[in-house]
Amino acid sequence: MDKVVLATGNAGKLREMRQLLADVGFEAVPQSAFGIEPPVEDGESFVDNALVKARHAARGSGLPAIADDSGLEVDALGGAPGVRSARYAGEGSSDEDNNDRLLADLSGVPPERRTARYRCAIVFVADAADPAPLVCEASWEGRIGTERQGSGGFGYDPLFLIAGSSGLTAAGMPDDLKNRVSHRGQALRALVAALSGRASGRT
Ligand code: IMP
Repeated sequence: MDKVVLATGNAGKLREMRQLLADVGFEAVPQSAFGIEPPVEDGESFVDNALVKARHAARGSGLPAIADDSGLEVDALGGAPGVRSARYAGEGSSDEDNNDRLLADLSGVPPERRTARYRCAIVFVADAADPAPLVCEASWEGRIGTERQGSGGFGYDPLFLIAGSSGLTAAGMPDDLKNRVSHRGQALRALVAALSGRASGRT
């Protein structure tokens, strides 16, 4: 199996990404195994932040690296929290704090105006100075509920009502189903397809 470093310390994302990569023959090693601390994420876009994280992990490990950056965009909030999703309620805020802030900011906003989407950018660099990273992006449409539902997933999942479902949140889905349909699952599968194409000289 080819080894690749995953530039994330988020337990929920690690679980999802390792499972998807193992299915296509990649042994994914978390950056913590190399004692790599996360870099400062101060990019203006998900792609910027993913590239910073991947180059940092490749530099620290000497291995190819994959990094994602993701977040929630809420239309009624002008696209917030966006790249600030992990720290929406302040530096060091918990998922609970962030969900509380989201509910407070959307207080009084009717269901039809609570549209939102998760976005994910995921990149692969062969080494820290790779001049041609592979970049894949995807999104997952939904709506923000008025109360938490479900106990799976992480982050904003208990409030994220999936478009086209009758009231199911991302936290109410089994992990394997979420992996198939989520923004990260779609982006990661696109990346894996691009990687296998590159390996066989087809791209
Ligand atoms: P990142 O670690 O910088 O990519 O920040 C991502 C943040 O966006 C997370 O901490 C969550 O708050 C939110 N997020 C991204 N993807 C998901 C998801 O699949 N479910 C729930 N929240 C997510």
